[in-house]
Amino acid sequence: MTARTWIGTGGYVVFLIAAALIAASIGGSIERTLVVFFISLIAVLGMGVYSGNSGILSFGHLAFMGIAAYLSGILTMPVAMKKVTLAHAPTFLANAHLDFFSATVVTVLFVMAVALVVGVVISRLDGSSATITTLGLLVIVHGIIIGAREITRGSQSFFGVPRWTDITVAASCAVLAIVVARVFKDSVFGLKLRASRDDQLAAGAMGVNVRRQRLISWVLSAGLVAIAGVLIGHFLGAFSVKKFYFVDTFALLAMLIVGGMATVSGALAGAVLITLVSEFLRRIEGGVDILGYQTPQLFGTTQIGIGLIILLVMYKKSGGLLDRLELDEIVLPKLLKDRVATAARRSSPPVVPDGLLEAREITKAFDGLLALDKVSLALKSGEIVGLIGPNGSGKTTLLNVLSGMLPATAGTALIDGKDMTPLPAYRLASMGVSRTFQNIRLFGSMSVRQNVLVSALDKWPSSSTRSADAMVDLALETMKLESVAETQASTLSYGDQRRVEVARALALNPRFLFLDEPAAGMNREETDALMDDLKGLREQFGMGILIVDHDLPLIMRLCDRVVVLNEGHVIAEGEPQSVQKNPKVIEAYLGRKGSRQVAGTLTE
Ligand code: ADP
Ligand code: MG
Repeated sequence: MTARTWIGTGGYVVFLIAAALIAASIGGSIERTLVVFFISLIAVLGMGVYSGNSGILSFGHLAFMGIAAYLSGILTMPVAMKKVTLAHAPTFLANAHLDFFSATVVTVLFVMAVALVVGVVISRLDGSSATITTLGLLVIVHGIIIGAREITRGSQSFFGVPRWTDITVAASCAVLAIVVARVFKDSVFGLKLRASRDDQLAAGAMGVNVRRQRLISWVLSAGLVAIAGVLIGHFLGAFSVKKFYFVDTFALLAMLIVGGMATVSGALAGAVLITLVSEFLRRIEGGVDILGYQTPQLFGTTQIGIGLIILLVMYKKSGGLLDRLELDEIVLPKLLKDRVATAARRSSPPVVPDGLLEAREITKAFDGLLALDKVSLALKSGEIVGLIGPNGSGKTTLLNVLSGMLPATAGTALIDGKDMTPLPAYRLASMGVSRTFQNIRLFGSMSVRQNVLVSALDKWPSSSTRSADAMVDLALETMKLESVAETQASTLSYGDQRRVEVARALALNPRFLFLDEPAAGMNREETDALMDDLKGLREQFGMGILIVDHDLPLIMRLCDRVVVLNEGHVIAEGEPQSVQKNPKVIEAYLGRKGSRQVAGTLTE
């Protein structure tokens, strides 16, 4: 959380309050429009807490809004009224009569509990499977509301809800929603979730429990949307189940998408734009008087207009108008950049206990292809082991199995004698296994610092971000990345991106570090510089390093031991000198024909 976040949030709050004051002083339809705008904004911000940070679109949030509107309506309706309109309601609901505040609290908690139950399933799904499931949620809740006639009046109008939502209430809740959404985005939770949005696998490998982060944001977002549901119910006084179905889902999604769902500024911009356009189109739809000529009623104009806006914006800017830009981050000078006290910075790395990682007869089959066949190897703290072999020999697969990213078909992986084969990647990360990826997998939309912070936070959770920041500084310094710390990761040069991968892996303060072709795509100069830095790692951090690379001179100079894989088998193992003379190795590398040439390369 930075000073900038808070000042930025303050800016939005001032904007909302100013809008509310102006609208209230004008009154009439402007005031009503603004109340609806505030309610929509709360819903959109709520949806954004989940969708914006996780990257998963939800069609289901209107279900939460609907549940909230009905529940708080029932809880607050005068008992005498309920006797007439909801004559068959269960007694505890028929007799309930809460004030606005208590009803809101009860409703929001209830909706969050529902979201928790649903979320356990949804948080396990990725991308469009999750999205489709949210659509299912919307349809199911719609069906339940129609079916539960005793308390909802089915598809008939539900009326008699006290009209307690005025501009003050709506504006206050919108302010709350803005603060929650903006602060959440920059919180540890938001950061981890955004990392998983950018690269789910890499986030897992850096210790992020993606499901848990999704669940947290899902429940929080349902809570915010529930507030919007309570407000709209108490604003309209009477509504029907249609209010919480596709048409409104579409309108709110339009707000979310058009502005750019990744940011709070985007939600705000989208809500403003779509509200203005809808108001305008609604007037046209109803027919307007132009210089005495009455235009005909044009049903559907609003929907079509909003649809066209979505098409146009998506065509031009697929990330929405503001894309990933957060206004406060642009407007407020870099000066406010969050810097930790530098005292902690030159600190030496925290000591990790010595350990032993073992692979015992690991086998991995992919649909008939045996990528690994009973591969065994050991890696001790303080040791640098090279893993080499021709393309397709199974090196990356072995790292994937040992880091928990792929389940082994057979065999065990142990840390200090403890079986860790069944553990997911994020658990292994917490146990001290860290890695880089052959195909760079950075959190592209985030800064270099944030990339590294994600993994540092695994070791030093939210309560002690200070130590996490110190670790980030140390990792950046070690990999000579200080000058690009605030740069967006995806814009860096190839070589620097590989360095960020190493820094990010270092920030977990691992006991075992796997480097999958860290020098791939680097020129000689960059490779040499990287090698010098890697050599320093062992002395400075003391972890065991398992390094895969095609640059044999690099491997030979860097490693204490080399393991050679060929077609999923270990064909040689030992000190670099002996391995490079091994005829099997020479043959595996270029076949019999080229063995003389490769012998040259290997002994270079
Ligand atoms: P290396 O890293 O040594 O070049 P890999 O471990 O990437 O080799 O691949 C080993 C073998 O397993 C290759 O034949 C590759 O095609 C296959 N393989 C790797 N990953 C998968 C996967 N996810 N699904 C199917 N086959 C795979
Ligand atoms: Mg590979």
